[in-house]
Amino acid sequence: MPSQPNNPHLPFGDQRTAPWYGKDIISVKQFNREDLEYVFAVAHEMRTMVERVGTFDLLKGKILANLFYEPSTRTSSSFTASMERLGGSVIPINEVKYSSVSKGESLPDTVRTLECYADVIVLRHPETGSAAIAAKAARKPVINAGDGVGEHPTQALLDAFTIREELGHLDGLTVTMLGDLKYGRTVHSLSRLLSLYKVKLNYVSPDILKMPQEVIDELNAKKMEQTESGDLAQVLPQTDVLYVTRVQKERFEDPAVYEKVKGAYVIDAAIMKAAKDRMIVMHPLPRVTEISMDFDEDPRAAYFRQMEYGLYVRMALLAMVLGKA
Ligand code: ASP
Repeated sequence: MPSQPNNPHLPFGDQRTAPWYGKDIISVKQFNREDLEYVFAVAHEMRTMVERVGTFDLLKGKILANLFYEPSTRTSSSFTASMERLGGSVIPINEVKYSSVSKGESLPDTVRTLECYADVIVLRHPETGSAAIAAKAARKPVINAGDGVGEHPTQALLDAFTIREELGHLDGLTVTMLGDLKYGRTVHSLSRLLSLYKVKLNYVSPDILKMPQEVIDELNAKKMEQTESGDLAQVLPQTDVLYVTRVQKERFEDPAVYEKVKGAYVIDAAIMKAAKDRMIVMHPLPRVTEISMDFDEDPRAAYFRQMEYGLYVRMALLAMVLGKA
């Protein structure tokens, strides 16, 4: 949403002084450390409220348009659950093939349409930069729920919240990102977000799926400690957070190349014997074969708890951009 200090369209009764009121959430680059502490505090409050009362009326009467041009289970349903737990409602557009997009409608036009009916738009789209385009077209806040191989800021925020809730702090940790670091938008966002803390990042991937140089250069400029290798065994014993990713089949032009790298790493109970007792394994999910089910019962397997933290963070973000936090 372009900045409009005296926007006559702002609904009456909202807290216009709330710091994130009316803002888009497009990239983790919008957040500084203080903002993160704020998100964490609001998310923590949401957790307490959900545990205490389940659903409450903070966003009663507000409507979210959930616009998904790519498949989603967690992001889409957690935004829906977030809005409903806050007393609001949702226009779900999960299958754009049944909407006017299939008639050739442009993204800006679709967004301009939905904002006539909704107060906030959550968008997932296959093209990098699409969320920024939508935000420019819209007067209402747009939240990026994944733009191709670009960013997935709300995932990174919930990932950082997960680490904080599980390990108590972020400073001083060693985080190892494993798998498809080239196409995985979650690691592009999370590595940038972690640059706000004193974190050491290890990137472990097949050669053709390395972290983009652009991200590495950006973090080098911030003096972040980063290492790259293909060998997990070298870094696993020192790792506090192992962030596993799926090889992103849908991003490969040549299926034969995908076949070659898809099983490059598999985390299982045997491999995890080399890791610390107090550490966590995360995954944005869905997993395919990169974490064996034989590890699921291990207390260090945090990937199912991570999904629940996502609910609280998305509740916090909706309340923030709608001026209620
Ligand atoms: N759910 C995550 C995403 O949308 C990770 C994945 O699809 O592998 O980026």
